[in-house]
Amino acid sequence: MITTNMDAPVPTRIEVARPFPPLTYLAPPGLQPGQRVRVKVRNAATLGVVLGPDPDPPKVKLRPVDSVLDPFPLLPPRLWELLEFAARYYGCGLAHLLPLCLPPAVEADWETLLPSGQRLGEAREAGRWDLLAEAGRAWHEGALALPGLFHRRGLRGAGLTEVRLTGQPHPARVTPAQARVIFALEGAGGALLEGPLLEASQAGASVLATLERHGLVARVRRMDLLSQKRELDEPDKRVELNGEQRQAVAAVTPGAFGVHLLYGVTGSGKTEVYLELAERTLAAGRRVLWLVPEIGLTTRLLSRLEARFPGRVAVGHAGLNATEKQADVLRLLQDDAPLFVGVRNAVLAPLRDLGLIVVDEEQEGSYKSEEHPRIHARDLAVKRGQLEGCPVVLGSATPSLESWQAANAGRYRLLRLRDRPAGVDLPTVKVVDLRESFKEERRKVVFSRQLLEGLGETLARREQSMLLLNRRGFENFWMCRACGRTFECPHCSVTLTYHKGAFRLRCHLCGYESVPPEVCIHCGAEHIRGVGEGTEQIEDQLRTLFPAARILRLDRDTTTRRGSLEAGLLAAELGEVDILVGTQMLAKGHNFPNLTLVGILNADLGLKIPDFRAAERTFQLLTQVAGRAGRAELKGRVLLQTYSPDHPAIIHAVAQDFEAFAREELPYREALGYPPFSAMSLYRSEGDTPGEALEPLRQLRLALETVPGLRILGPLEAPIARVKDRYRMQMILKAATRGPLGEAMRRAPLVPGGAVTLDRDPLSFGV
Ligand SMILES: [Zn+2]
Ligand SMILES: [Zn+2]
Repeated sequence: MITTNMDAPVPTRIEVARPFPPLTYLAPPGLQPGQRVRVKVRNAATLGVVLGPDPDPPKVKLRPVDSVLDPFPLLPPRLWELLEFAARYYGCGLAHLLPLCLPPAVEADWETLLPSGQRLGEAREAGRWDLLAEAGRAWHEGALALPGLFHRRGLRGAGLTEVRLTGQPHPARVTPAQARVIFALEGAGGALLEGPLLEASQAGASVLATLERHGLVARVRRMDLLSQKRELDEPDKRVELNGEQRQAVAAVTPGAFGVHLLYGVTGSGKTEVYLELAERTLAAGRRVLWLVPEIGLTTRLLSRLEARFPGRVAVGHAGLNATEKQADVLRLLQDDAPLFVGVRNAVLAPLRDLGLIVVDEEQEGSYKSEEHPRIHARDLAVKRGQLEGCPVVLGSATPSLESWQAANAGRYRLLRLRDRPAGVDLPTVKVVDLRESFKEERRKVVFSRQLLEGLGETLARREQSMLLLNRRGFENFWMCRACGRTFECPHCSVTLTYHKGAFRLRCHLCGYESVPPEVCIHCGAEHIRGVGEGTEQIEDQLRTLFPAARILRLDRDTTTRRGSLEAGLLAAELGEVDILVGTQMLAKGHNFPNLTLVGILNADLGLKIPDFRAAERTFQLLTQVAGRAGRAELKGRVLLQTYSPDHPAIIHAVAQDFEAFAREELPYREALGYPPFSAMSLYRSEGDTPGEALEPLRQLRLALETVPGLRILGPLEAPIARVKDRYRMQMILKAATRGPLGEAMRRAPLVPGGAVTLDRDPLSFGV
């Protein structure tokens, strides 16, 4: 029997994404931190999150909350702890982080029955939030099943099922509803996800079932779709682990926090180790979080996971639409998928009782968010492992120097895989000194003689080549020979890039574009010249040099459509491409069995960036690309064109020797006090004038000057001083440990939406 709770509403701190800090509202007593509510902010309905009772409410008339959205906090308690940590660390609000865990469309169904036979809604009406909180705790602990807890709004049928026309002849007569389904499918090119299809055709699931019975349509689960693309793959057979792999698995203690750095060259079998650990964890009834840098390049992994753990894998990434994302998260909340694979934000996925966290390619920059909140998924994965008390495995062939140094210092445990599988050799890497080529040919050389010969030979053997140039467009910028001036974006302090196909000069920062002028915009002279070739020009030149070759370019300009990168990679894998040209998006984790020549056109491009990580990034990129060559039975070779063959990053990349690179780079970092031997925060501000951008940072500097152990650099103009007509300033905080940086945040808390933004542990200082 539920008794009516007559307790009056209590002042409660509630955070909304904007404004911030928290506001105080009147809310029913007994609400728990993490419960979502709807409140009015300046008369606009806004999603808010409960922080707890306000012991010292403002002495004004408080507004009540409009409604409570969750019967109890939907996030597992340890995940909520992780959010609290992340909010403090990255200087953002819980309301900014919560949507990354829980899409706003995910809502509990108040009709759900408690074991006592009461509906959640009845307890709400009676004000028994304490009862609900108790049920929530039991649910999170797995002690209470609440079937049907969630609304499946917009999720009619299974959101991850695709419906396809089978191509069977239509029967003479179909019902109007059936016809609408068929027309909708035909209009969409033959296939649609079930949810959108039913919406578009205004048909019910029974109509689909009938059509399926008649053999007119087929329903394919999304996961199976991914597997079907992999028909050319070797079957996902279980591989016998070698000695090193078994040792690595044995070194990871189940059920205890510890960070393990799994270091092994490409092809050394890191995935086998992850799979074994995942199997062990699932067998123990716990859950696995598996992070990858980019989901578009991991269809192979997904099909392997689905083959090994059928029906138990859920996927989350930015490429999914809102419905699919919602379906994903619901599967996690309903405990329907104990293994979750995803990119950056998946580190905050609402899985409970984690037993293993895998971060593959841990060095990848894509784990760090480039927008507010600027979280780093790898770092949060380590923190989450600590809170959950479970092992964390970071894997890489070229670890970040942060993780490598942590292993050197004994904070992480180093697990090595030295062997490549039998019959697979490292490719041979040869340096082509572009200074020599210049002397030979007396002009700037894009394709050296050696590279042209290599391309010719590879084509003749009907094998594949890949050419990498980390610069898109046709020509990097235009310059006037008469006055020497370049053509800059009118809104940003960068030069415009020429795109020949589109016949436009484009700004890669703000998207501004203009028709290329025929005369210099500065002096009117007719001597305009393009400087610095990009991928578009490389493709152009290759078509002239090798007219019979099938050439495919993959860069951000050719892969704007969803799925186009995957389609291009698949075509290359199926052998439909002879020469693949592209930017660094070619470097990552896919496998072309017929690829035997990799050409790096200008290995120096990344070295010129004024950033202390330039050498590390260049080394990683070159090593990764080199690793693409000759992964199957065919021996691969790499031609690396460079003007600086003596640079350590180049020398060690040629030898494919990460440890030698780290030995040379780490002392340099230490001597100059750069990470991993220090911690940094980057504060930025913008304004309509340079002065307006400078002022808040100047104030901040005054507030922080007395923080012990803190070095403050700036404020100074940002490397790109103006973007989209906004002037940019920055200030860097540096300290030997993280302590003073945290103290700085306490002393001068940021106002979200204010003039100053913070990038904790910044990876990039350029943009
Ligand atoms: Zn000029
Ligand atoms: Zn611009």
